[in-house]
Amino acid sequence: MLSRWVDKDAQQCVERYGAAGVNPDVALRVYTSRLLGRDANLVLHGGGNTSVKTTGRDLLGETIDVIHVKGSGWDLADIEPAGLPAVRLAPLGKTRKLSSLGDEEMVAILRSNLVDPAAPTPSVETLLHAFMPHKFIDHTHSSAVLSIANQPDREAICREVYGKRAALVPYVMPGFALAIQAAQIFDSQPQVEGLILLHHGIFTFGESAQESYERMIGLVSLAEARRPAAKTKVFIAGDLPANIAPLTQVAPIIRGACSIPDPAIQGAYRRMILDFRTSLAILQYVNGRDLGRYSQSGVVTPDHTIRTKNRPLISPPAPLPLSKSFAEDLRAAVQRYVAEYRAYFARHNARQKIPKRQLDPMPRVVLAPGLGLFGLGHNSNEAKVAADIAESTVQTITDAEAIGRFQSLPENDLFDMEYWSLEQAKLGKTPPKPLAGQVAVITGGGGTIGAATGKLFADNGAEVALLDLNEAAAKEAARQIGVAVMAVQCDVTSTASVASAFEAVTARFGGVDIVVSNAGAAWQGRIGEVDESILRKSFEINFFAHQKIAQAAVRVMLAQDTGGALLFNVSKQAVNPGADFGPYGLPKAATLFLVRQYALDYGKDGIRANAVNADRIRSGLLTPEMIAKRSSARGITEEDYMAGNLLKREVTAQDVAQAFLSHALALKTTADVTTVDGGNIAAALR
Ligand code: ZN
Repeated sequence: MLSRWVDKDAQQCVERYGAAGVNPDVALRVYTSRLLGRDANLVLHGGGNTSVKTTGRDLLGETIDVIHVKGSGWDLADIEPAGLPAVRLAPLGKTRKLSSLGDEEMVAILRSNLVDPAAPTPSVETLLHAFMPHKFIDHTHSSAVLSIANQPDREAICREVYGKRAALVPYVMPGFALAIQAAQIFDSQPQVEGLILLHHGIFTFGESAQESYERMIGLVSLAEARRPAAKTKVFIAGDLPANIAPLTQVAPIIRGACSIPDPAIQGAYRRMILDFRTSLAILQYVNGRDLGRYSQSGVVTPDHTIRTKNRPLISPPAPLPLSKSFAEDLRAAVQRYVAEYRAYFARHNARQKIPKRQLDPMPRVVLAPGLGLFGLGHNSNEAKVAADIAESTVQTITDAEAIGRFQSLPENDLFDMEYWSLEQAKLGKTPPKPLAGQVAVITGGGGTIGAATGKLFADNGAEVALLDLNEAAAKEAARQIGVAVMAVQCDVTSTASVASAFEAVTARFGGVDIVVSNAGAAWQGRIGEVDESILRKSFEINFFAHQKIAQAAVRVMLAQDTGGALLFNVSKQAVNPGADFGPYGLPKAATLFLVRQYALDYGKDGIRANAVNADRIRSGLLTPEMIAKRSSARGITEEDYMAGNLLKREVTAQDVAQAFLSHALALKTTADVTTVDGGNIAAALR
């Protein structure tokens, strides 16, 4: 591992933050914290923490000794001075005299000594930082260190690697007890550059930011050097089918098997989003004959249990062609996982003074032999975090197995971390959004109605894919929604294009739950004289495209076996023909029938089919020229035409989006048409 310290960058950081009144010690603390945070081999997703001891002013302007330490909710990769809150140092030192200190009491002491009472809560490892005499302290969960610190003979290996340069600290859960133990061990070996926390990670310290950082790089490099020089084959391959089914066939089955029916609402599920990863290293790992041993030992550092649980689920291999038994075997494996998780909870909950609240029992990582691995979460970000940790775990365990044998902590230590009181206190604080865990595909996603629907669905927690013929328009709409929205170029009139768009969405999120088939185009012509080619073109986009989209969606939904929602944008033309609008109204009338056919044929599978019948939406299907022509034919202004309805209200794309959202949430409604037109009695359904 090479040092990324650059004098010029460090100096620039001091100058830039200095101009904003930030103390140079804190500016340098920001600089090296980011160097550590941006290396996935050292720190992942909020892991690790850093500190600096310096002087500052309290709110009365008096100079005091403080420690700036990473605050909760901040990531080292993009930390700012605000993410390193100042805590009065002297009172923290006094806690060393206490015989014990509970986590809640410790957090109360930390918070009550913040210089700024509104600052984020300092790291639970703050006391360890405070008890060390050094100015700068760095802590990471280095993969290379964890590969030697998770071995049956970890102490012997670490001693051999570090000699007198680092002291070894046996595993204790983070908090007061660890801080006391680490301080005692340091006091007995004050010459060391750092501490190796067995099963946990590494601390280094120094009098300057550069010294502490360079020591981290130096000590981590020693662990890296312990790995076998040539990349020998670590895992013996197990038996796998000759052909493995592709990701896009396997993912929806895994996703469905890991969704929990909501006991309170029939038809509702607590769904998962999947994040897939594969590489040569991942394949060698998941294809290993002994996967059932090395992958089930536990996490590489206890922090990870909160994001990934202690153990991943091993999926049976998925042969191509996919047999029905794969889905059955997978569901059975999930059921076993759930039963084991519940038993694990019951076993360890029995020894608690205060009973814990059981977390949902579904896996957060699925290992798929022949294919790769999946991170699972209730949204795409949680899934990504789980996948990132799983990928890093593959590397750590592979290295550990190359050196000796990977061995995690005993189960009770991992339970204590997973069910830590500070984590339990967070439960139920943020109720899930109505569409959390659901994947919505929206065609015509670059247009006004598609973009408005995408935004509303994303605001309600869905993962959204905007499909549009015009890729730039879809990308722009996705960017404006401002969350992790996917933009996919798709010609809805092409079966191949629709298939590849659904494959892209399934590969990205693991499946599809809601489709808003919204793309359309208006054609005019007096029906007795109109060119047949126009009529056929209109049928392609206003009828067959809806059928192609619905067929592709149903295929994924049936594989998931958790129902779904097909939503169609039909027009008032479907029930109330307009003069010269036959080429548009005819296929729309057929699409209205299509909605009912899907409702009828797939109701038993929990798949609902509903339509929104919208009219006179500005920048909907009618071009400005068409609107101008129609309003002038009636001798009224465009504004009057747009609000030419019973309520005299202009109907917007947001109103249409709201109707689609209502349908997506109405679990007991199918074959329904919701009219969004401000009132037009001639188009009322009867
Ligand atoms: Zn740690």
